[in-house]
Amino acid sequence: MTDRAMAIATKVEAFVRNEVIPYEKDSRLGFHGPEDALVRELRAKAHMAGVLTPHILQDGSHLTQRETAIVLIKTGLSPLGPLACNTAAPDEGNMYLLGKVGSAEQKSRFLEPLVSGEARSAFFMTEPAETGGAGSDPSMMQTTCRLDGNHWVINGRKKFITGADGARVGIVMARSDDGACMFLVDLPDPAIRTVRVIDTIDSSMPGGHAEVDIVDLRVSADQMLGASGEGFAYAQIRLSPARLSHCMRWLGLAMRAHEIATDYACRRHAFGKPLVDHEGVGFMLADNLIDLKQAELMIDWCAGVLDTGSLGTAESSMAKVAVSDALFRVADRCVQVMGGTGVSGDTIVEQAFREIRAFRIYDGPTEVHKWSLAKKIKRDWKGGQA
Ligand SMILES: Cc1cc2nc3c(=O)[nH]c(=O)nc-3n(C[C@H](O)[C@H](O)[C@H](O)COP(=O)(O)OP(=O)(O)OC[C@H]3O[C@@H](n4cnc5c(N)ncnc54)[C@H](O)[C@@H]3O)c2cc1C
Repeated sequence: MTDRAMAIATKVEAFVRNEVIPYEKDSRLGFHGPEDALVRELRAKAHMAGVLTPHILQDGSHLTQRETAIVLIKTGLSPLGPLACNTAAPDEGNMYLLGKVGSAEQKSRFLEPLVSGEARSAFFMTEPAETGGAGSDPSMMQTTCRLDGNHWVINGRKKFITGADGARVGIVMARSDDGACMFLVDLPDPAIRTVRVIDTIDSSMPGGHAEVDIVDLRVSADQMLGASGEGFAYAQIRLSPARLSHCMRWLGLAMRAHEIATDYACRRHAFGKPLVDHEGVGFMLADNLIDLKQAELMIDWCAGVLDTGSLGTAESSMAKVAVSDALFRVADRCVQVMGGTGVSGDTIVEQAFREIRAFRIYDGPTEVHKWSLAKKIKRDWKGGQA
């Protein structure tokens, strides 16, 4: 690992442990995510500590994916760490996409406020299952866009849009006659109406996850990201690194949950000895260590593939499935080791369990990744070689 990444990661860890963790009981943590006032306060502290947006350097360049991993794992040590350091989803993935595909004008208007941490963003792809819209299968996209003079007019309904409520930048996906398109949109816009913020199992993302109606949204032609019909290709550019950075952050949180569970098991006694000395508990913690290390190695391997310039589609599918499933096992064992305390709000272990459960759905459910890997296996199969 490079010295620069190690130095950033060390600084980030100290900041998260010393300055962010004390906020984990803040009254501004709501059911639909932390309030923006709290996010601003934490970001001001991160700025002072020199750890705001730590994965993007002063000259605008991005750390390599392998370097990003060790930094984002440290921001993830608290559910509030990624928000404080501006490495949270969906902003982190949106910044990456804009950095790769945005024009110079688009970058200065939409990317800069995100990198500086002043604004939040949202990515509008999924649509309601109730009306047969895009979900696991994005090709089912129903939201449409049509050219009217120098503007595109967009109509549709989107669901589970993280952070839409309170975001200033939107990336909206819609279908034209050429295929999928992506648009950069200033928010709020009266043509995008929040129908509701959905009650979900997780609670770490500001603005929660919204269902929105888009009615005759007019977007200037120069706000199209890239070219008409190329939307799914751009989604691919975003997807692999974005799903890997979720793995990084949630690995950090699972590591912290394991620390808390270990502390509990070493202090707490039952039947005349510390819990950790009961084989049933000690083995759960041992299994955690194994899963955590395997997740770390899987992330590092996939990050290395992305660093070669590959899209890493199959590799990030493998990493996403392996890491999200492993971290869910870790979080579940931490809850179990801690008994009643594990399911209480007294520690972040309960939240880690909820957040990581949701992660097995978004950025591709486990089964969808396995299904696409199976298709690749068949594609690559050369009969008669076995
Ligand atoms: C917390 C959270 C945040 C989210 N944030 C965003 C966001 O910011 N922007 C956005 O656009 N979307 C977001 N989403 C939506 C997310 O991407 C979708 O939920 C996901 O793609 C699955 O789509 P769906 O919910 O419609 O499930 P469905 O498509 O209805 O699938 C349901 C289940 O069917 C199974 N399945 C589907 N296809 C296959 C297959 N080929 N083989 C085997 N099994 C299969 C899987 O088990 C899957 O879980 C978020 C979701 C959650 C839960």
